[in-house]
Formats: sequence, C-alpha cells, structure tokens
Amino acid sequence: MTFDYDLFVIGGGSGGVRAARVAAATGAKVGLAEEYRMGGTCVIRGCVPKKLMVFASGFSEMFDDARAYGWDVKEGPFDWPRFSTTLNSELDRLEGVYRKMLNGSKVDVFDARGSLKDPHTISLSTGQEISAKHILVATGGRPVVPEMQGAELGITSNDIFKLPEMPKSILIVGGGYIASEFAGILNGLGVEVTQFYRGAQILRGFDGEARGLVAEGMRAKGVDLHLGTNIVEMWAATQDDLDGHFEGVPMVSGQPAQFPHGAPAHGICVKATNGTEKVYDQVMFATGRSPNTDGMGLEDAGVALGRRGEVVVDEFSQTNVPSIYAIGDVTNRVQLTPVAIREGMAFVETVFKGNPTAVDHALIPSAVFTQPELGTVGLTEEKAREIEPVEIYCTSFKPMNHAFAGREDRALMKLVVSKATRIVLGCHIVADHAGEMIQLVGIAIKMGATKEDFDRTVAVHPTMAEELVTMKEPMRSA
Ligand code: FAD
Repeated sequence: MTFDYDLFVIGGGSGGVRAARVAAATGAKVGLAEEYRMGGTCVIRGCVPKKLMVFASGFSEMFDDARAYGWDVKEGPFDWPRFSTTLNSELDRLEGVYRKMLNGSKVDVFDARGSLKDPHTISLSTGQEISAKHILVATGGRPVVPEMQGAELGITSNDIFKLPEMPKSILIVGGGYIASEFAGILNGLGVEVTQFYRGAQILRGFDGEARGLVAEGMRAKGVDLHLGTNIVEMWAATQDDLDGHFEGVPMVSGQPAQFPHGAPAHGICVKATNGTEKVYDQVMFATGRSPNTDGMGLEDAGVALGRRGEVVVDEFSQTNVPSIYAIGDVTNRVQLTPVAIREGMAFVETVFKGNPTAVDHALIPSAVFTQPELGTVGLTEEKAREIEPVEIYCTSFKPMNHAFAGREDRALMKLVVSKATRIVLGCHIVADHAGEMIQLVGIAIKMGATKEDFDRTVAVHPTMAEELVTMKEPMRSA
C-alpha cells in the first residue's frame, strides 16, 4: 500500500517539530499540521514569553540593589505596552525560525487543524485528506478552568501575554509552578498579586523545605498568598459592589470612588472560602492542564485514551494502534519541553532508524522560575524516606550579594543521600539562578555520583554553589 507520507505529525510544538525534522533528515517524506502558531506552547505561550517576563520583573528589585552598591539610579514605571511589543516581535521571529527550519528540512507544513479518520488517514480542517504510514500525535495540552459560575470572567496563562494593559490587581488561583511563577512575575512588574491555593502548600510534589522557602520568599516580596483557600463565587462588579460593600473599593466622601489603586470600574468581585469579598482587576486560573485530544477522532481510529483524556502509549510512545504514536504533553507523562523533544527523538530512532529507544524519564532536572527560583533533580526528602534510610545535608543562608544589598532573601542547598549506597538521590536548590545550577548538578546525579564524589570536588569560591560540595555533616537522618 502506498501512502502520501511516511510520517504525518499533528501539532507543531516542541515535540512535533523536532520529530518531523529529524525524521525528514532520514529521507522520510514528512508532513506536519499546526492549527495555531508554529512553535507550540513553549515558544508562543509558555517557557519563552514567561522567562522573558521573569527577566522583566526582576528589574524592580535591582533598582534598590544598584543603589545599595553605590549607583545613583532612579526607579521608573514599567511600560507594559513597550515590553509587550518587543515580546511579540521576538515571538514572531522565533516562529519564523521554526518555519524556516521545517522548510529547510523539506517538511510539508499545513496551517490547519488535523484529526484522525482511521489508523492511516488524517483529515485537515481545509478539507484535505492525507494518508500516512505513521501518524504522530503531538498536540500538547491546554489550561483548564474550574467549573463555577463566573469562571468565564477569568483568564489563563494563554491570555496573560496578550493583555492590552497590566492589571492593577490580580487574583491568581492555583498552587502549581505556572500559578506561582506568574504570581512572582506580576508582583515584580508592580501588580498587586493575591494567590489562592486550596492545598496546604504551593508546588505540590516538590521537596517540602524548598516549597516552604519559596512560599516564604514570595510572601516577603509582596505576594499575598492564601493557602487552604478557594473561590466560592465570582461575578462582574456591579454598581452595588461599587457602593462599598467590598474590600478594595475605596470610598471618597461617602461615595464609591473607583476600584483599587485607581483601576477603572471593570473589576471582578470574588467571594472566597476565607470569608473575604474583594474586587480584582483580573482573575487568572492556573488550575491545571488537560491533554488536547477532544474532537480529534482518536477514539474513531481505535486509540485508547486514559482517565484524563491523555493518549496512552508504551515506552516507545506507541499507542495500541500500531501506526499511531504520541509524544509530549498529550501523553501526560512529564510535561516539560525537553522531555517532549526527547520523546520525539526516541520516536524517530525507533521508527525511522531501526533502533528501538525507550524514553528515559528518570532523574529529569527542572526549574521553577518563581522568585525565589527553585531547581530540583531526583527524589525529594519525603519520597526518598519512603524508599530507604537517607541522610539529609542541608544549608540555608543569606547570599553575599543580597546581604550586602540589605535584602532578606535566603538560599537553600539540599542533598538527599542514600545511607546504604552513599548515592546522591536528590538535590534541591532555592537561589538566584537555581535553574542554571541544577542543570549541572543533574549530570553528576545522573552519573550516580555519591556524597563522597561531591566532597572531593573542590569548591568554586566565592559562589553559592560551593555549599553543595562543602556540607560535611548531615543535618538529620531519616
Ligand atoms: P505543545 O508545545 O503544546 O504543541 C502542541 C501544538 O499542537 C500546539 O501548537 C497546538 O496549537 C497544536 N495542536 C493542537 N491540536 C491540534 C490539531 N488538532 N491539529 C493541529 N495542531 C494542533 N516547560 C519547560 O520545560 N520549562 C518551562 O519553563 C515551561 N514553562 C511553561 C510555562 C507555561 C505558562 C506553560 C503553559 C507551559 C510551560 N512549559 C514549560 C511546558 C511546555 O511548554 C510543554 O511541556 C511543551 O510545550 C510540550 O510540547 P508538546 O510538543 O507536547 O506540545
């Protein structure tokens, strides 16, 4: 049987683009459909614009620091329209780079939505039908908004990059890394940030001490973080609300003046489980993400989906339908860009290079770009203790640069070590540039380094990271 393509990829994000390019380089005929913008979540509305906003927000503290270091600088207001224009042209440029790379790799690009008709046929929203020997589903995920009255008034991380103006105040709902990162970003940009999380501590799944320090640091920088708290109801502000029934609506001479901090009268009233009723300019939900499998014809093609709608795959990213594979966020394994890329490469290795390659999901280093930043690899103390006896090496200190500037920020360096093998099972860092540090520690830990390997490595002085090789005594055994 002949097909139009050897491989057809649905989704032009991190995983799909990489798989398409590398497969085409083997001589395979490859097509790819993208329904929105090339580059996917990471480039258009995830990692890249977010990190640029982290950089932008970091400047607010630097004015004070610069003065402490002897510079005569004055703080000015943040100009969101100016930043946002530059941000958007950078995203346009990156999207162009992706398209160019695909064209250069001789991948046929279709600007269309793709769905499955059967195990070898893709229907495009343009009306075209395409046959392929192999189909790769790389459609990523999307933010989910809780079902509640008024939820449609809120925004998600998809919208935050496109706001025409910065809100004066925002309520961020959620305790995961996206919620916590945006709390820090917007706080740094001068927005009055409140964060609600229904759990007992933000950043579930990360190391307990690291989570605690990040939460404290965020509060110290001005994020009004409420744990064990959720929205009861929310609605568009009315004149009644303006009449002063709500905290945050100032009264002038007995008359309601305007929304908090001079914001125009277009706020959202939120009644919370902690008994507060307050008006915010914006409410942002960062309450989880769902795999993009709706309306894609996957069930019609016989592809098994999991409980959360994810495509179920084996270690080679193959579904129960032999011609259909899936990689990246749509499989709900580890939702990170480098993982989607790895899965794409392993898929090509397996299917187009005759070298069956399972994706290695163990010991993935990652960073949370909160303020303070968190870098992590391997087991948390809590998880490790459930598995075997461990020693905990941990230090918390005021970094030199912050101490000099009179800032209270603390850093944390923590190693979780197996008592039996001395292998470092996990490393958790809360500090400026923790993401950069954890990338390098990740190599040692992936290689199976022991605590003694760390100890015999000479310190780099004066740095924060030197603490990782100079912690002599365990803080505790567990
Ligand atoms: P995606 O990149 O989501 O690409 C899927 C593509 O498929 C999209 O372009 C979509 O438009 C398209 N598509 C969907 N359905 C169809 C269809 N039927 N037909 C055609 N096209 C379709 N990861 C990190 O590693 N580090 C970070 O710092 C980080 N920060 C993030 C911040 C935010 C706010 C978000 C939302 C995510 C972040 N991530 C981060 C996660 C990262 O973006 C994802 O893990 C990664 O993009 C997944 O790649 P993917 O190829 O699986 O899917």
